[in-house]
Amino acid sequence: MLEEIRQELDELKRLGLYRSMRQVQGAQGSRVVLDGKEVVLFCSNNYLGLADHPLLKEAAIRAVERFGTGSGAARLVSGTMELHGELERRIAAFKGTEAALVFNAGYAANVGIIGALAGKGDVIFSDRLNHASIVDGAILSRARLVRYPHNDLAALRRLLQNTDCQGRRLIVTDGVFSMDGDLAPLAGIKALKEEFGCLLMVDDAHGCGVLGEHGRGSAEWCGVADGVDIQMGTLGKALGSFGAYAAAKQEIIEYLVNRARSFIFSTSLPPAVLAASIAAL
Ligand SMILES: *Cc1c(COP(=O)(O)O)cnc(C)c1O
Repeated sequence: MLEEIRQELDELKRLGLYRSMRQVQGAQGSRVVLDGKEVVLFCSNNYLGLADHPLLKEAAIRAVERFGTGSGAARLVSGTMELHGELERRIAAFKGTEAALVFNAGYAANVGIIGALAGKGDVIFSDRLNHASIVDGAILSRARLVRYPHNDLAALRRLLQNTDCQGRRLIVTDGVFSMDGDLAPLAGIKALKEEFGCLLMVDDAHGCGVLGEHGRGSAEWCGVADGVDIQMGTLGKALGSFGAYAAAKQEIIEYLVNRARSFIFSTSLPPAVLAASIAAL
């Protein structure tokens, strides 16, 4: 068994696909120390430099003093603290939606939201370059997964026309694509969603905080905020903290509370992290 694993690792090395972690010294910033040398950091998602901001650090420290270090349980048990509600109200206000729900990470959010919204008998239409967590959420949901060519509205329309579905249809796309940095054509996707009566979910991990007049993300940038049913975003990139959210109408948020397994069965975020996100917003 270990021998097989060793061979597979060697094979990865041979193919140039072996990965290992490089350790950064000190706090995250535009310049960090790597192997004893100062370098300029271009690959981080800490777009606004908030990960080491004095106001976020102070908010986190104060939250620890007042509320402790852990939440002790999942949200539906006893893990809902004052700061969870405050952060959700602020996210909803920031995104201009009726409600919001905090998840423990973007990965957990996508797996939970997609698994809640789609299941057996439903179809998920997913851009071919969508983030791995969307793909994993779609696979776990047991819905049929239809991947459409990257940002190709004509192909998406054909697939919507030609795919039989008695259940729900969910279109899901990154707002800003995490590897190429290009944007989804959200106005065109919104028009298709309306024409075919689908739900639309946008993963705005890289758009939240940096795109649009108020930094609300790619839906604001494209002028379609009202047409996106579920705006998912993360708190660990531009916002300098950790966690993720879904922003949507009240019914959808209530539904996620009752159906999203990564929300239901996981200990909630701790006070320091919530306070940092609130300060960032
Ligand atoms: C980073 C990222 C995620 C995962 O978010 P985490 O909070 O890091 O788990 C999901 N979707 C996209 C598009 C991302 O870039």
